[in-house]
Amino acid sequence: MSELNPFKIAQAQLAEAAKIMDLDPAVHELLRWPLREFHVTMPVRMDDGSVKIFHGFRVQYNDARGPTKGGLRFHPDETIDTVRALAAWMTWKTAVVDIPLGGGKGGVVCNPKEMSETELERLSRAYIRAIGHYIGEETDVPAPDVYTTPQIMAWMMDEYSVIRGYNVPGVITGKPLPLGGSAGRGDATARGGMYTVREAGKLLGIDLDQATVAIQGYGNAGQFAHKLIAEMFGSKVVAVSDSRGGIYCTDGLDYEKVMAWKKEKGTVVTYKCCDDCKQVTNEELLELDVDVLVPAALENQIGDWNAGNIKAKIVAELANGPTTPAGDEILHKNGVYVIPDFLCNAGGVTVSYFEQVQNAYDFYWAVDEVYTRLDRKMTAAFHAVHEAAQKYKVHNRMGAYIVSVARVAEAMRLRGWV
Ligand code: NAD
Repeated sequence: MSELNPFKIAQAQLAEAAKIMDLDPAVHELLRWPLREFHVTMPVRMDDGSVKIFHGFRVQYNDARGPTKGGLRFHPDETIDTVRALAAWMTWKTAVVDIPLGGGKGGVVCNPKEMSETELERLSRAYIRAIGHYIGEETDVPAPDVYTTPQIMAWMMDEYSVIRGYNVPGVITGKPLPLGGSAGRGDATARGGMYTVREAGKLLGIDLDQATVAIQGYGNAGQFAHKLIAEMFGSKVVAVSDSRGGIYCTDGLDYEKVMAWKKEKGTVVTYKCCDDCKQVTNEELLELDVDVLVPAALENQIGDWNAGNIKAKIVAELANGPTTPAGDEILHKNGVYVIPDFLCNAGGVTVSYFEQVQNAYDFYWAVDEVYTRLDRKMTAAFHAVHEAAQKYKVHNRMGAYIVSVARVAEAMRLRGWV
């Protein structure tokens, strides 16, 4: 099996882009590493009175284009290399949609599924006490990601405001609406991704209203992808999954019903709409005969071990890093149109940026205005990437790297860094 360390993958992807672009070696070396990173250790009082020690990270990868920006994960398998890779991808993501921000990311090693609400609140506040001096609306702005929620953002914003002594809504995005969240942030990642799927469909001549879809992962990104792809295009979602496995029904899976089941039972895997509805593993789901495959769970799901079996015409990567470099080559060779992660899932950070802008002005937009602005950003980014891929005769992920790296390199050059 090829390399699966996400940061090594991120560096390898950058190296490939640097070669194609004939990038200045100093620019390349500077972009290979985070500018800053913080490792924190946090004591947290648990409900049973014991004290548990948690470890966390915050990586500020590159701020040449603006304050660093990126989500925060609560996950038992979190590592510094995962966070570094995600912070690098955030740098390319904010650049590809051309918003004035850099890239960062955070993570705490914990299992939120085994923690109570009060323990999660104490951990969230402890994390802000540990990194509070190094973040801020003009330096580094966290946001929700895997297993972190608007409620967690609210506790973090509150703790930060307590430290500063006044209300600072702009320190974090993905907040609940009454605390300065943006309309449209909830489904922004999936919605942004769907705008790119729409453009890819037009380009490839695929009738999305006739298309079948499989979605891996049923959290914020996956659930809304199910809702929106059916709502916006009339596509038929035939398979969905979560960490416990998936379901497949050729008649299509109704969003409202699957969601209600997931809410009640905690998983989609036991849902059965009819006799044809059957269980599939997460591995089998990826290889189903569908038009559109949406990886919306974790990294390293498509690699040299299964890329040759992917039958989808479009792979819309709502997850970060779902495809390895070897997987990319195989998909490209087989004519699969990949909408790469940091383009496809950039809707979340784009609306997070809109949230920062609204917080700064203390003036809030209607949801239609958010959708229109998001569509404009995503559509422009999609075509910039497609054109770069065509021009350099490379796959779309390299096209996206070329667009983003050129923008970040230009900002560093103008600042006189290199
Ligand atoms: P989430 O915590 O809401 O949901 C994660 C989902 O993945 C859950 O349904 C979980 O059961 C499932 N999952 C976990 N391990 C799995 C496995 N091994 N196989 C299959 N499913 C598994 O997280 P999310 O916010 O939806 O994020 C999902 C992906 O999208 C991540 O890669 C994240 O970085 C990326 N992403 C999210 C956002 C956002 O705004 N939420 C933005 C950009 C990128």
